[in-house]
Amino acid sequence: MAETNYKHDLVGAMGMPIAENPTGLMMEAAFRHLGLNWRYQLFEVAEASLKDALTGMRALGFKGMNFTIPHKVNVLNYLDRVAPDAAIIGAVNTVRLEGNQLIGENTDGKGFIRSLSEAGISPVVNHAVILGAGGAARAITVELALAGTKQLTIVNRSHERGQTLVDLLNAKTPAKAGLEPWQTTYTVPQDCDILVNATSIGLYPDPAKPDIDYDSLTKQMIVSDVIPNPPQTAFLNEAAKRGARTLDGLGMLVYQGAIAFKMWTGKEAPTDVMKRALEEAFA
Ligand code: NDP
Repeated sequence: MAETNYKHDLVGAMGMPIAENPTGLMMEAAFRHLGLNWRYQLFEVAEASLKDALTGMRALGFKGMNFTIPHKVNVLNYLDRVAPDAAIIGAVNTVRLEGNQLIGENTDGKGFIRSLSEAGISPVVNHAVILGAGGAARAITVELALAGTKQLTIVNRSHERGQTLVDLLNAKTPAKAGLEPWQTTYTVPQDCDILVNATSIGLYPDPAKPDIDYDSLTKQMIVSDVIPNPPQTAFLNEAAKRGARTLDGLGMLVYQGAIAFKMWTGKEAPTDVMKRALEEAFA
């Protein structure tokens, strides 16, 4: 008789709202593809219940968890350890288990770096320009800086949020960071190697694009968007028209998930399968 095991290994995501989070689709597709007896569940957890939810996660023997809005910062209070890059970023999107210790990680920026390297592009450049200074921008800029990028320009609408990120990068990473205010159309400097839209502009159903002078883009630039849905944003379309090489946010989303998948299961994630699952969900 075949061996039976009705007990799944459990991972999931906590957030609020959480119902529309597509990560479970790509994780479950990956588990099925590799024949792993694992399950990924979404949990709607209010801010006030986060501590209890972590206690429950430990008690129930979860192998890992993703954290999304509004928990990415507060979760740091309830972990045994935090990875050095996640500690600099000040936010955790993935928790993994080491023995019975909960370790906080941030795979968002690592997913961005991996999407560069999968395209054969080095994350070590002279000058990266980042539109936005929120959570995605923090994760991307810290990982670029730790990877060896020398100069980072943060372009942000709110001065305070932009300055906070610039101060963080200058204090805690080897890179040199500066702030550009974003009150009128932004002209991208000609020495920019990588331009990233790390704002939420362009996320479905909003067809808008960041207010930059698209004619300042050149074919020497790598232009990347964090927006995963739609993958082909108006921002990337404009960049492609100017001959720039483009990288979409769907890749970043898949790779940040693939890095978490490997942390949890110890196995290489089937990224093609995961990408297809997301494409079907976004179609
Ligand atoms: P935050 O709310 O933390 O930050 C949003 C940023 O966008 C801020 O810098 C904000 O500027 C800026 N912004 C928003 N609207 C405008 C506007 N109209 N004009 C100028 N600036 C604007 O969000 P996150 O950083 O967490 O997320 C940003 C996007 O990244 C989301 O769409 C999310 O889906 C995506 N994302 C994608 C990931 C992936 O794997 N592909 C991973 C993580 C996030 P200000 O400070 O002035 O308000």
